[in-house]
Amino acid sequence: AREQGGGRHAWFDPAMHARVVEQVRLEHDLRRALERGEELWVAYQPIVEMVTGGLAGFEALVRWNHPERGNIPPGVFIPIAESTGLIVTLGAWVLREACRQIAEWQDKRLPGSANLFMSVNLSTRQLNDPDMVALVREVLRETGAEPSWIKLEITESAVMEKAEQSIRLLQTLRGLGIKMSIDDFGTGYSSLSYLHKLPIDSLKVDRSFVMAMHQSEENRAIVRIIMDLARLLGFDVIAEGIETSADANLLRALACDYGQGYHFARPMPAADADRLVGAEHLP
Ligand code: C2E
Ligand code: CA
Ligand code: CA
Ligand code: CA
Repeated sequence: AREQGGGRHAWFDPAMHARVVEQVRLEHDLRRALERGEELWVAYQPIVEMVTGGLAGFEALVRWNHPERGNIPPGVFIPIAESTGLIVTLGAWVLREACRQIAEWQDKRLPGSANLFMSVNLSTRQLNDPDMVALVREVLRETGAEPSWIKLEITESAVMEKAEQSIRLLQTLRGLGIKMSIDDFGTGYSSLSYLHKLPIDSLKVDRSFVMAMHQSEENRAIVRIIMDLARLLGFDVIAEGIETSADANLLRALACDYGQGYHFARPMPAADADRLVGAEHLP
């Protein structure tokens, strides 16, 4: 028994034990949620064109409404889904939902208005999944979504983990006409030497940089340098985490292409996003 050994059994760490139990429970519940398909839903956060303020697209963000615990943040369950492999099923489900939704929204756009894009997050696991291309093709066919409407977001670290393999997958997906974006740019240990080799269309400036901009000229310089780099390499830039009009103005002055953040709109249920699709400008 534990108490007999005194200090010798210091490996039994109650806090760690509780964490493990919690993870196992969440894994079990997430598996059930994926089977039943009632607790998970997708929120859509508008992305605007900085110059005009018009709606440019959405980012699909998964939500879990747990029957006993209520809303569990993706920051909690996505890592569990990643480590258990459940992310492959979860990710496929989000992709299908998002593609179905954008196809529906494109249908109700006024004739002559620009296409909307739908950004979907891809995890490291999905990036290394040999069935990924087949899944994407199948989902496009099933939902009627055009490849050019879809933008897949991947992090630098996910790409760098198996760079050669990831680059081949990105090339194939891009060959289908899908857009690729590097998410949370600036936070991973990215090698700048790799950046120009990546078959991508845009960089997403991590919100930590955007939120620090108002603090100092140095922080603004970092964002400016990311913009310059992106332009040099021919990528669009999306800034995330824009919370104030001051941030939006700074980014506009830097000729940032697209913006996303609470200043414009929060992630919202499809029914609310639906109302924005028909309108020319955000309220
Ligand atoms: P992310 O891809 O960087 O997504 C942006 C996150 O920033 C979202 O958090 C969004 O709600 C939040 N956000 C947007 N605007 C603002 C703002 O102005 N201020 C602040 N403070 N936050 C803002 P969320 O929805 O909690 O998602 C967290 C992370 O979970 C995502 O970060 C992404 O890495 C992951 N995630 C969410 N949905 C999915 C998914 O379907 N698949 C995968 N693989 N990962 C997902
Ligand atoms: Ca993202
Ligand atoms: Ca991000
Ligand atoms: Ca992030």
